[in-house]
Amino acid sequence: MPGLFIDGLIARPTAEGFAGVVVHRDEPATLRHLMRHATVHGPAAAIRTLIEEHPSGWWSLPGSYSEGGQCACHCPELDERRPAQQLDQVSALLDPSITRVYLLQPERLELFDRGGGQWAARGAIPYDMWPALR
Ligand SMILES: [Zn+2]
Repeated sequence: MPGLFIDGLIARPTAEGFAGVVVHRDEPATLRHLMRHATVHGPAAAIRTLIEEHPSGWWSLPGSYSEGGQCACHCPELDERRPAQQLDQVSALLDPSITRVYLLQPERLELFDRGGGQWAARGAIPYDMWPALR
């Protein structure tokens, strides 16, 4: 149901910009979970686990590899609600339900959001700074 929830996109860099999967009901915990994955396991592992292995995206993001999270591709009871939620940069920026993009670069997480209707970069967090910022 587009528009009812604030959705985010967890993305990786591509030749055309970025592409990734949707995380529904985006919340502040999304950033903490992403930074935890990227700092503890490395950004390549975070991309593999959070984007490649769950191509339909997430209803809720796992806090770490051992704790929870619910993806949209491996949950039979959610089959009828399963969205096709792999988006490239052009589709993501045009999709009104996507309001935030988390871009997993090799050295840092870059944040973009649609504040006031215009997409803008909201900063970048180097992975090696995260332990000091928490
Ligand atoms: Zn899955």
